[in-house]
Amino acid sequence: MSCLFCGIAAGDIPATVVLETGRTLAFRDLNPGAPTHVLVIPRDHYADMAALTDADPAYAGDVLATAVAVARQEGLDGGYRLVSNTGDDAGQSVHHLHVHVLGGRSLGWPPG
Ligand code: AMP
Repeated sequence: MSCLFCGIAAGDIPATVVLETGRTLAFRDLNPGAPTHVLVIPRDHYADMAALTDADPAYAGDVLATAVAVARQEGLDGGYRLVSNTGDDAGQSVHHLHVHVLGGRSLGWPPG
């Protein structure tokens, strides 16, 4: 199976890494939708948040903890948004779980 984010986790595909932990990796989105737009992934392959929480809820907690650490590191004191698109209706385009960390401007709600 060829997976883009597995390639980034393995270091085979370049990315701008902002934070690493033993089980997670955070890197800048190639096509940012906000001044700060970072993706947080588990190093291991899970298709989406449902797959990871079913298999290992504590690992899902690690991913969320890294997302919060990224927001703090990026200085998103005014607030930020964590998004994990799951499935076609949400527009998930990369089928390796990722949490978007978005901030750096006032974010509208609800999203389009
Ligand atoms: P989603 O639509 O929720 O699956 O989000 C996938 C995200 O991955 C999009 O925001 C893309 O801009 C981003 N993306 C795709 N390829 C790369 C890459 N090579 N490096 C960093 N971000 C990427």
